Amino acid sequence: MKKSKDSNAYWIQENFQRYRIHFLILNLFTFILIIALLGVIIVLSTNQRFYDSSKQDVLDYIANLNSSTYDIKRKLKSPDPRMTLVYYYVEPLDLTSSPYGTLPGSKTYVVGSMDGDLENLNLELHSSFYQHFEVQKINRSHYLIYSTKTNFKIDLDGSGDLKTIYCVKTYMNVDGELNSKKNLITTYVISAIAILVLCAFASYFMMQRATKPLGEFVDRHVSFISDASHELRTPLAVVQSKLENIMAHPDATVYDVLEDLSVSLKELSRLNRLTSELLLLTRNDQNLTNLNTEVVNLDKVLEEIIEPFKEIAVIQERNLSYQGMDAIVQIDRDKFRQIMIILIDNAMKYTNIGDSISVLLTCTNSKAIVEVKDTGIGITEETKNRIFERFYREEKARNHENGGNGLGLSIAKTLVEAMNGTIEVEHNEPKGTKFMIQLPKIKS
Ligand code: ADP
Repeated sequence: MKKSKDSNAYWIQENFQRYRIHFLILNLFTFILIIALLGVIIVLSTNQRFYDSSKQDVLDYIANLNSSTYDIKRKLKSPDPRMTLVYYYVEPLDLTSSPYGTLPGSKTYVVGSMDGDLENLNLELHSSFYQHFEVQKINRSHYLIYSTKTNFKIDLDGSGDLKTIYCVKTYMNVDGELNSKKNLITTYVISAIAILVLCAFASYFMMQRATKPLGEFVDRHVSFISDASHELRTPLAVVQSKLENIMAHPDATVYDVLEDLSVSLKELSRLNRLTSELLLLTRNDQNLTNLNTEVVNLDKVLEEIIEPFKEIAVIQERNLSYQGMDAIVQIDRDKFRQIMIILIDNAMKYTNIGDSISVLLTCTNSKAIVEVKDTGIGITEETKNRIFERFYREEKARNHENGGNGLGLSIAKTLVEAMNGTIEVEHNEPKGTKFMIQLPKIKS
């Protein structure tokens, strides 16, 4: 975006920059929110289901316990190498008095490995809920612990003395699960960071793309405002100074100040033209240009438009010619006249005595092509690219006494496009400038 020095324009550009930054932050914030939400969902759902298979193993084992009371061998075997079982046989004991409780001095029998982290564990049944899973860190390992009330008898020492087992507590080592959970979270965090970085780039790219047309509009708007105010200021300043001059000589006659008056009038009529042109362009920006279209033979319309110019051309010592053919198009006759006046008027302005201006109407299958060619001063390559910009004037045209305000061709382009046509400019060979208008033909 081009930086403008005009304070008003600078304010618009500053605000636009702020809007772009807000847009970027909002985008990023949305991405972060989505990723965080996804993370929470993943963590919650994995947390909930993480021990599902271990829990099921424990429950399956417990369900089996009470069913076959005397199958000692099976009961004494741990179903899973990760599972350690502690049988509590206490006499007498009322385990039903409390949902959980302390069983000091309970006698225990351990099935499975008591090596490693469980080695020094106090296996007494402490404050643990019955039928409730909990994960506890014991020394360096984590265990999924589950206590359940039982009521079966087994001969633990082979003496034939059956002992009642009142409670079984299972310790399922879940270090593996926890490790994969940690890995999962690490992977998620790394991926989330990578995705966020990608999102930051994507947001920036999206912001650039989304605000590009708006940026161009702001640029155009800003330069339009500063150009328009500049163009309006100049004639106003001239009129003001001329009127002040007249006021400074109250005794002067009209004849004495005739020059000041005529300059003022000229500037006022320039101002008048400028404001109507600005109004026309602004109306078109808001799509308010009302077209009154009709189906016409373009050849006839062009003949009508060019006729009065022939006389002017003779007075200005230019050769104006027209050559056409039948072409049925749908146009707004008045607006088309306005376009042609702009082009022929320019051709008159930017040619010298003896130069020729020719208007040509040809056709393709689908298009009517109007060319306005002159052998005048021509245009530079830069002008060729910028000629339809508002207020654009080539330096030599600025200094030209007949130079306008640089709005004519932007108006012409606006009107041609409103009639579904196109307008282009080319260098005329061997000398001068050529404008080409293409309009869709009506099939007759
Ligand atoms: P202006 O009112 O200044 O003529 P236009 O928009 O009609 O504004 O034209 C913009 C500029 O394009 C002119 O100032 C002039 O530099 C250039 N231009 C337009 N028509 C011609 C032409 N036929 N030959 C050379 N230059 C032209």
